[in-house]
Amino acid sequence: MQQNIDELKHTLLIISENQDYKNELTDFFKSDYNIITGSAKYGFDLLIENRSKICGILIDIQNAKKESFDAIELIKNDSDFSNIPIIIITESDSIEDAEKGFSLGVSDIISKPVNLKLCSVRLKNFVKMNEMQQVLHELARDELTLLFTKQSFIRRVQDRIKKHPEKKFGILAIEFENFKLTNTQYGQKKCDEYLACVGRELRELLFTGIPCRYSGDQFVVFYECQSNVNFSYISKMHEDLTTKSPLPNQVIKFGIYEPISNSENIISCCDKAFLAIKQIKGVYDKKIVFYDDKINEKLLNEQKIQNCMESSLLNGEFKVYYQPKHDTKTGKIAGAEALIRWIHPEYGFMSPAQFIPLFEKNGFISKIDAFVLKQVCSDLKKWQSMNMKLVPVSINISRRDYFVEGWFESQLKMIDQMQIDHDLIHLEVTESLYCEQTELIIQQVEKAQKLGYKIEMDDFGSGYSSLGMLSSFPLDVIKLDISFVRELEKNEIVVECMINMAHRLKFITVAEGAETLAQVQKLKDLGCDLIQGYFYSKPLPSAEFEDYLKNQA
Ligand code: C2E
Ligand code: CA
Ligand code: CA
Repeated sequence: MQQNIDELKHTLLIISENQDYKNELTDFFKSDYNIITGSAKYGFDLLIENRSKICGILIDIQNAKKESFDAIELIKNDSDFSNIPIIIITESDSIEDAEKGFSLGVSDIISKPVNLKLCSVRLKNFVKMNEMQQVLHELARDELTLLFTKQSFIRRVQDRIKKHPEKKFGILAIEFENFKLTNTQYGQKKCDEYLACVGRELRELLFTGIPCRYSGDQFVVFYECQSNVNFSYISKMHEDLTTKSPLPNQVIKFGIYEPISNSENIISCCDKAFLAIKQIKGVYDKKIVFYDDKINEKLLNEQKIQNCMESSLLNGEFKVYYQPKHDTKTGKIAGAEALIRWIHPEYGFMSPAQFIPLFEKNGFISKIDAFVLKQVCSDLKKWQSMNMKLVPVSINISRRDYFVEGWFESQLKMIDQMQIDHDLIHLEVTESLYCEQTELIIQQVEKAQKLGYKIEMDDFGSGYSSLGMLSSFPLDVIKLDISFVRELEKNEIVVECMINMAHRLKFITVAEGAETLAQVQKLKDLGCDLIQGYFYSKPLPSAEFEDYLKNQA
C-alpha cells in the first residue's frame, strides 16, 4: 500500500503481517517519511518496484519469521539494495533472531513493545550514515571516465576475491602508445574527451568486470576467467576501443595477466599486466600480450644490465673487436667492421644481441657508439704511428644517434681532432633507418658523405622494401643481409640481381656471414666485391687484429 508521495521526503518501507501494527507504525512515521507497506512475502518485490526511492526498511518479523528472513537475505544479497538500512522488530528478546538478523547484515533489532521515538532516532541515524556512504561511493569514481578510482577498485577486487575464493580471475591492463605525444598534438581537452570515451566504452562493454582508471592514461579491468571466452571478447574490446576513438591513429595496447593468484597483492597483479605491455610498446603489429614469468625474468635481467652499464663503460669492460673484410678479387684484407663486446666481471662475455636492443631502447647506445668511434680512432692513430698499412673501419651508427642533439657533429669533430683521414672511417647505417625517410637523418648522412666518409647500408634486403630508394639516398656501399648468405643456394638469383643492380648504381657490394669456401667461391662468381665472415676471421680483439693486419701486409 502506498500513501501520497511527497517529493521532499524519504520513503520508508514497513513490512508486517499485522494490519493494526502496520497502521500504528504508519501513523507514527508518516510525518517524516512517505510510507509503503507490505508483507514479508512481497517485501523484495516492493523494493524492486520502488527502486532508488526507499531509504530504510522496518520489518516486523512476528508471524512470518521465515518469509521475513528470506526477504532480508534477498535484499542483502542484491548489490542494488544491500546498503539500505533494515531494522527488525521482534516480539521478544530472542538471541537467535538477533544472531540471524545481524549475520544477514541488518542495522538494528528492536523488541516489542517498541519505543517508537527511539526507533525513529535510530532510523534517522542509519539513513544519514547510508547517505554519507553513498557520497563516499560517488567519490570512488573517477570524474572524467566514471570508472572506479584505483583505491575503490582495489577494495572491490579484494571483496570479490574474498567472496569467491574458488573462482579464477584475470587483470587486463590498457595503455596507449605515446599518450604524451597525443596530448601535445591534440591538447588536453581533446585528450580528456578521448579518455572519457574509453571510460564509456569500458562501462558499456563490461557486464561483470570491474573497470578502473588506474592512473592518467592507464586503465585496468578485473574480470572472471571463463576459459576460451575471454580472449575473443578481449580482442573484440580492443577493436571497439580502437575504432570508436575520437582521435585518429591511436594505438592501444592490452596486457593480460590471468589467472592471477588470489592471494597475490592486486597492485602487483596490475604491475605484471603493465609489464607485459612494456614488451610490445613500439612493436607495430602487437596489440595484445599475456604476462608470463619469463617477462619478469627478462626485465630483471634488463634491470641488472641497466644498473651496471655506465660503470662498466667507465671501467673499460666494453671492448671494440674488429672483423676483417676481404676483397674477393685479390683475397686481401680491404676493410674491417668495429663490433662492440662486453666482458663483464660477473656475467662474463656478452654478445651484442644481449644488450644492444636494450641500449637502443634506453638511449645508452649513443654513448656506446661514441665510445667505439673514439676507440677506433685511437687504434688507427696508434697503427698509423707504427707505419702499418691501414684499411677503412666501419662503425655502426644506431638510429637513436641521429636524434641526440649535436651527437653527429661532435663525432665528426672528434675524428678531425684525432687527425684521422675521413676515408679510413665508414659509417654503417641500417636499411630501416632510411625507410623512415626522416629528413633529419638524411641531412646528417649526406653531410658526412660530402666530407668524404663512405656510407654503407647494413643488412640490405632484410625485410624493408628498399630497391626504389637506393638511387635517392646518400650511399656508397651495400652490405647484403647475412640471411642471403646463410641460404645462398636458394637465394642465388636474388643475390645476383642485387649485386648487378648495386653495381649499376655504382655501389660497392659486401656479403656478410660467409663461413665456407663454397660460399666465398659462389659470392665471388656472382660478382660480390667484399666478403666479411668467419671463413676469413671472427671479430678479433684489437691486439689480435693488429697482428692480422701485419700478417696481411
Ligand atoms: P651487424 O652490424 O649486422 O654485424 C654483423 C654481425 O654478424 C656481427 O655480430 C658479426 O659477428 C656477425 N658475423 C659476421 N660474420 C659471421 C659469420 O660468418 N657467421 C656468423 N654466424 N655471424 C657472423 P655481432 O658482433 O654479434 O653483432 C650483432 C649486431 O649488434 C650487429 O649486427 C649490430 O647491429 C649490433 N652491433 C654490434 N656492435 C655495435 C656497435 O658498436 N654499435 C651499434 N649501434 N650496434 C652494434
Ligand atoms: Ca653492421
Ligand atoms: Ca649486418
